[in-house]
Amino acid sequence: MAMRSVLQNAARFCLLQRERLTCCRTLQLNSAACSRDRESSRLLQNWFGALGRQRKFHLRSYDNSSAPAAPAAALTLGSRVPQAGELPSFMYGVLRNGKRRVSYLLAAVAATGCLGTGLFVVLADAGREDGRRPTVADAADTLPKKKKVVVLGTGWAGTSFLKHLDSTQYDVSVVAPRNCFVFTPLLPSVASGTVEARSITEPIRRIIRKTDVQFYQSECAKIDAKSKRILCKHVSEMGRWEGDQDFTLDYDLLVVAVGATNNTFGSKGVQEYCHFLKEIEDAEKIRDCIVERFETASLPTFSSDERRKLLHFVVVGGGPTGVEYAAELHDLIHEDLSRLYPSLEKDATITVVQSADHILNSFDRRISEYAEKKFARDGVDVKIGWRVSEVTDKCICLKSKNTGNIVQQMPYGMVVWSTGIGTRPVVTDFMAQIGQGDRRVLATDQWLQVANCEGVYALGDCASIEQQRICDDVINLFELADKDKSGFLTAEEFVETVDQVRSLYPQIDTYLEHEHMQGVTGLLDKAIKDGKQSTVQLDLKRFGQAVCKVDSQLKSMPATAQVADQQGVYLARCFNKLAKDPTNIDSGGHHKLEPFHYRHLGQFAPLGGEVTAAELPGDWVSIGHSTQWLWYSVYASLQVSWRTRVLVVFDWTKKFVFGRDSSRM
Ligand code: FAD
Ligand code: MG
Repeated sequence: MAMRSVLQNAARFCLLQRERLTCCRTLQLNSAACSRDRESSRLLQNWFGALGRQRKFHLRSYDNSSAPAAPAAALTLGSRVPQAGELPSFMYGVLRNGKRRVSYLLAAVAATGCLGTGLFVVLADAGREDGRRPTVADAADTLPKKKKVVVLGTGWAGTSFLKHLDSTQYDVSVVAPRNCFVFTPLLPSVASGTVEARSITEPIRRIIRKTDVQFYQSECAKIDAKSKRILCKHVSEMGRWEGDQDFTLDYDLLVVAVGATNNTFGSKGVQEYCHFLKEIEDAEKIRDCIVERFETASLPTFSSDERRKLLHFVVVGGGPTGVEYAAELHDLIHEDLSRLYPSLEKDATITVVQSADHILNSFDRRISEYAEKKFARDGVDVKIGWRVSEVTDKCICLKSKNTGNIVQQMPYGMVVWSTGIGTRPVVTDFMAQIGQGDRRVLATDQWLQVANCEGVYALGDCASIEQQRICDDVINLFELADKDKSGFLTAEEFVETVDQVRSLYPQIDTYLEHEHMQGVTGLLDKAIKDGKQSTVQLDLKRFGQAVCKVDSQLKSMPATAQVADQQGVYLARCFNKLAKDPTNIDSGGHHKLEPFHYRHLGQFAPLGGEVTAAELPGDWVSIGHSTQWLWYSVYASLQVSWRTRVLVVFDWTKKFVFGRDSSRM
């Protein structure tokens, strides 16, 4: 049967039935399926126009130009089940109107059933040239295909992306060797027994349970950007099973959020003899190791010299993590272990090794000075300007940063290595494929898309945004601003253009904030003042001088949870918008949405003894016990779920009442 007459009949049927069908209200039209026959389409539009005016019908038409033209089921008649609240009044109406109404109703239902079924069969036959019966797969083919999104990693970036993504719009899979999210800022607390490991982890399946996101506990071993495919290897400490084989996943969009590894800077012996503090297992190992050292040191066979060596704890790295861990360790030893091992308290020492000139050097100077003084008071030895050259099974060798000589060899009981981040092998391999082999992390544009790699996005610790220097674009910007081509910019031209490009150069906002300027006019005023000009006309040279200053505020974003989390939220929102309106993507595959803009919300440095230092936006510095309470409330509120929030608060309370748990499992 010709498509045209089928559609004509279908529409006529619907029109005939519209007075009687009380339940049937939805009419679906796949316009892609019908678009082959333009005349039929036009006819159908007319019929549906008539139907659409009837209040009892809803016309639902979906356009899917990318789907293959569907051979069958071009038109389906759906029925809406009366809602629970509507049924009683519907039944009451039927009974009140007596037999005539009932017979109408029965006739309508019968007619709907018979004609509906008949119609479906006729329609199905119509488009089918091979005489084959339609299958569920055929019907599914008519629906728009969802793009395949593969997310690598369940850390800060991956989890915040998944939490904010509208996963009904995509076909989403997640691959990670770890099946849970870990709240890393509390890892030092786990390593000292303040908080339990399970209190800061949340199974990823619990986070994605209300969505149809697929999770695979595997490691991505290779990203093949050309064929848009990844190779995954199952990871398990419980041995291999028969079905345990490598597998591949195809993607349309890939989100790389695999984080980073530990950076040993190639120092000998670090991998073998040092502890790291990156994963939850690391924190548990450190906690066990401390207790083991105290138990061993209390054996009668040890001399006091040997006891001191055994209870010498070294933390390499004076950044926020190293300092926080040293502070937690100090509290553990002097608040809890001192009660259980009273004779050993005097033998236990802590050393922090820092290569830079100060500890906490990414913080405000007041905070790092306060931390150094507090550590000196607490008896924590801080070695400033020293680098670790080698670690052996008994000693850690330090080299002076200034003289380069190996001057000190310190015996140790435990070393915790906490210095910067390194690159994961899968990222190194991927960077080599895409011409970024000389880099440490993946370079992305400001929309988080990996440079020269369509459909691949990278965020969190494994990526960094290549920020555009305004200096490189001065000539283009000047031409854009000089609308009347006079060779000079008026105040209006300057302000209008710089305002327009502000989102492309985030350093403009940082500079304005840093210089306490109210807006772009501040830049102009400064240029006029610097040039000792009386007029507000700027030539190319003066324009360059005015705007290039902002590049001084170009800083790469820190590798923190705060950045990773904000990037995850940003990318998910972009994906949501793109799914709703694909016109937001240009021919080069770049989306036209606002670029990512990082908002620094401040940072904390817990210093032990219920004292915390905080650096808050607007040059605010706060140090003390009250800041510790602010830290408690912020970290409780940042928990990924109510379950972990309750568990963490419970652990803190438990510590106040019973002290830290020092049993070794
Ligand atoms: P991660 O959170 O490390 O997640 C990486 C994910 O990728 C993991 O799920 C991992 O299993 C998975 N993965 C690894 N390899 C593969 C692979 N081959 N294939 C697939 N998946 C893979 N930041 C702050 O802002 N504030 C703090 O107070 C703070 N404290 C910290 C304390 C400690 C002890 C540490 C270690 C870090 C701290 N950070 C803090 C930094 C913060 O944790 C990181 O910046 C953040 O975790 C980065 O997020 P990410 O998603 O990029 O990586
Ligand atoms: Mg001009």
